[in-house]
Amino acid sequence: MTSQIPTPYFVIDEPVLQRYYNMLTDSLTQNWPNYLVGYSFKTNSLPWLVSFVKRNGAYAEVVSEDEYLLARYLGFTESEIIYNGPYKSQKSFCGVLLAGGYVNLDSRQELFWLTELVNSFPDKTFKVGIRANFNLEKMCPGETTMGETSGRFGFCYETGRFAEAVEAIRALPNVQIAGLHLHSSSKSRSVNVFCAIAKMACRLQEEFDFSLEYVDLGGGYCGGMEGRPEYPDYFPAVANILRGCFSPEQTKLIVEPGISLISKCTTFVTSVFDTRDIKGSRYLMTDGSRFNIDPTMIKNSHLFHIEYNPDYTQNRPLLESQIVSGFTCMEVDRLFTYKEHPELVPGDRIIYENVGGYTMSLNPLFIQYFPAVYVQNKDEMKMVRRKWTPEDYVQGSILHDTLTS
Ligand SMILES: *Cc1c(COP(=O)(O)O)cnc(C)c1O
Repeated sequence: MTSQIPTPYFVIDEPVLQRYYNMLTDSLTQNWPNYLVGYSFKTNSLPWLVSFVKRNGAYAEVVSEDEYLLARYLGFTESEIIYNGPYKSQKSFCGVLLAGGYVNLDSRQELFWLTELVNSFPDKTFKVGIRANFNLEKMCPGETTMGETSGRFGFCYETGRFAEAVEAIRALPNVQIAGLHLHSSSKSRSVNVFCAIAKMACRLQEEFDFSLEYVDLGGGYCGGMEGRPEYPDYFPAVANILRGCFSPEQTKLIVEPGISLISKCTTFVTSVFDTRDIKGSRYLMTDGSRFNIDPTMIKNSHLFHIEYNPDYTQNRPLLESQIVSGFTCMEVDRLFTYKEHPELVPGDRIIYENVGGYTMSLNPLFIQYFPAVYVQNKDEMKMVRRKWTPEDYVQGSILHDTLTS
């Protein structure tokens, strides 16, 4: 039945998504019952997905004014927002703080906004979090994304900027430092990285003697990848360290998962529409593009499976290599080389796995508009975003310049 749906399209398997969400919250319940999940909008803000996590109790983790507005549009109150990142707007920053949502300060500019805000509400008490920038690479050599160079986000602990920020906030009479935010991206996504982050939280606690309402570990977990950690591997280890200086009675643990929730449940279904032989190479032209599933152009292998066209009954000789390419007119739009496999023909489907994070949200409007998205629940397929049309593309545009005519 699924093969009647025209490709390309994404599919989210709802029971698998639910299983991963429950795996996360079960592990947190067992290890740190006072927790909060902030779903990372930037990883995939498909409206259906956002409302799924909202129904399951997650808050919105946003990193721009547009994401903040999207969260509001999709029904999150300002107190259900966790506001991170270097690019907040002053208006939304103040809105979330006034409503008692979570704001993790990232810059000196935000310290000025905070000062201005709290001075104009002298009778109100405000709570803020601070994002700590620290040398995770030193604690976990070879595992971080930034490597030897420093990360760009938050207040740097080693250079004293973090201490300065703490001092500046403590000088304000009606502000409490309620939280620490320690998100760091890593290549390894290992349990070891999260243990180092927890150790850093304890170190900052000891050095600055906070009374914290929350410690926010950020995102960056693995989920649904063969041979890699899963949620139940992280939280026993992390809780064990955090218990040295915090207690679940006093301090909430915030986690901000993105890719780990949605990788396993999401696939991208594409078809071969043409094959051609050029100078001894067999090219498979497919209706999925590298831009759909590898928009940052960093992957050289993919998890996938093949569904053969049932109407093609001829023999399929073994081919040494078939170059799987996308539909765009760019030569780099080649996804992978299929080596020593039976010949693929038009109508065969290539179904990519583990494509939920940083794919839909980074899809460009290039040559073809956004593909449709379906949610699968056992045998039922429900379309949750139709394919984008030129009408969607032109919205907000002016077609005629009446001023110069
Ligand atoms: C990107 C990001 C996340 C989510 O990261 P994943 O790798 O998708 O889990 C969470 N928190 C912050 C602050 C982020 O920037």
